[in-house]
Amino acid sequence: MSLFTPETIERVRDSADIVEVVSAHTDLRRQGERFVGLCPFHEERTPSFSVKPAEGFYYCFGCEAGGDTIKFVQEKEGLSFPDAVESLADRYGVDVEREKEDPQAEERRRRRGRLGEALERAAAFYEATLWETEKAAKSRSYLAGRGLREETLRAFGVGFAPSAWDSIVVAGQRAGFSIDELQAVGLVQKGRKGGYYDAFRARITFPVRDVRGRTVGFGARATTADQKPKYKNSTEGELYRKSRTLYGIDRARGPIARGGRAVVVEGYTDVLALHQAGIEETVAVMGTAITSDQLKLLAGYAGEVVLALDADRAGREAMLRAQRVSGAGKLRLLVCGMPEGEDPAEMLAAERGEERFRSLLAEAVDLPVFHARAILADGELETPAGRDRALDEVVPVLAGMGETITRQELVTEIADALDTDPGMVGRRMAGARPAPAPPAASQRAPLPAPRSEGGDPGPEYSGEGEPAGGDGDPGPEGGGGAPAVRRRPTTEERREDAFLAMCIASPATGAEYLERLSEEHLVGERARVALPWLRDHLRDPLAELPRENEELFAEISRLTMQAEREPAEEAAIELSWLMLERARLDRQINHLRRDGGEQSKETVELHRERARISDAIATRSG
Ligand SMILES: [Zn+2]
Repeated sequence: MSLFTPETIERVRDSADIVEVVSAHTDLRRQGERFVGLCPFHEERTPSFSVKPAEGFYYCFGCEAGGDTIKFVQEKEGLSFPDAVESLADRYGVDVEREKEDPQAEERRRRRGRLGEALERAAAFYEATLWETEKAAKSRSYLAGRGLREETLRAFGVGFAPSAWDSIVVAGQRAGFSIDELQAVGLVQKGRKGGYYDAFRARITFPVRDVRGRTVGFGARATTADQKPKYKNSTEGELYRKSRTLYGIDRARGPIARGGRAVVVEGYTDVLALHQAGIEETVAVMGTAITSDQLKLLAGYAGEVVLALDADRAGREAMLRAQRVSGAGKLRLLVCGMPEGEDPAEMLAAERGEERFRSLLAEAVDLPVFHARAILADGELETPAGRDRALDEVVPVLAGMGETITRQELVTEIADALDTDPGMVGRRMAGARPAPAPPAASQRAPLPAPRSEGGDPGPEYSGEGEPAGGDGDPGPEGGGGAPAVRRRPTTEERREDAFLAMCIASPATGAEYLERLSEEHLVGERARVALPWLRDHLRDPLAELPRENEELFAEISRLTMQAEREPAEEAAIELSWLMLERARLDRQINHLRRDGGEQSKETVELHRERARISDAIATRSG
């Protein structure tokens, strides 16, 4: 475990400008000491999201998302805690210091750092070669011919690997890297006679970067027709795992998070062309198959993934595979029907291409609909036996869909195609098992677990250090941070929060009421967490609030924000107090009833007291 020192985390919190960080995701305007805007975590039309720059935290009254800058980056940009800290540290120029780590972990991290540097240097070398050498002239004109502008190519670090056998072998070693290191990142290969040579020669290179923009490998395209294969990727190694990487994710993650949608294509140039056209939520899979890890990564940013893969058989299979590996995830998978034999880059290079692509995107259909149509298209619908087979195949698809209008319409469409009535399809569906079942449990993309208690903050927030993985290789993406599922507060919790917030808003009166409040008045764990702190710090609850205690920090910052919004006259506090008192009595009465003491003197007394409180509530609220 490589823990950051507490000073590092504190410096990151102090240096990062929370208004600036949040503003990348929603427009904020100043309102007194805070900034307000539409919540970037839930859909809304009137702003209930606030940022308090002085204290360095944000809070949403609608969905109760809240935390500091690091938490925001974790949740909104889908980074693990260490990645969020490092990314903010990079951005705000904070030196990262770590606690002493065990020698093995330190060695692994040091090695990863060196391997990463070897890749960055190679990327810079290839890029310079593309723009500055005569031998890359043909490649430059090829790229220009595909409609790709220099600024786009530079943004993605596209380069050219010269045809010499030893450019990297020589330059890499001269820069101090060992052959072993160069081989470990797939830059050089071992020949049959034992010598080493450059892995990429006479190819256009596309650096593959992780979420944070660090190069982890390369994709390289042939520049002549006889070069095989047409695309050559880095061999998988310590930094590069094809199944966990999405080309373009470093540049697409922001737009994906903002728009809630990702577009998945197949090729490097497709990504470049789409970004250039302003469809910046685009990433590419390495090869045709999309994996559960890739979908999990995307689920950290978006609720919708549009697959715009080739219309050929392989592309279709890939899209159907996506349905299998997505498991029971909440990710909505859609398919954008690309015309056969035309990829997005080609389409965009043609006249009105962008317009055509955008309308294809707008017409994307849910994956099951696409699947069902594919079955019908392949079926022999001329014979009753063929129609029966098609029905057998399509029924499990429908059964896996859930009761939606989309499904209902699809049933009608299928019945039409099979020359039968929707009732027949419906009856078959009722007896069917949902399909297709994931081939193996391990391939299923796990959902973020709902939080068990107390709302914020989730357990992963305290998970500092290396992302989970255990084998010491967390993969290039370093563990995604799917936004946590927040539990809605109960009526009781809301009532308790309102009371505590009013006490903060009018501390003089509030202090008296807090004296009278006991633990018995509170059911919500969150209010119980806040109470002892508020008793001692009611006048300025945020002043000495310890950041390390995240649960307390979350509760107090939430209540303070609420207090600022809701004025509290004494009558309102009184009424709120009475409600808590009545709820307490109700719980006591129920408790006695369960124990069979319904007729006891105590119960009678409690009922009398309850009636008195109810009257008081009626008078005050009337
Ligand atoms: Zn919200």
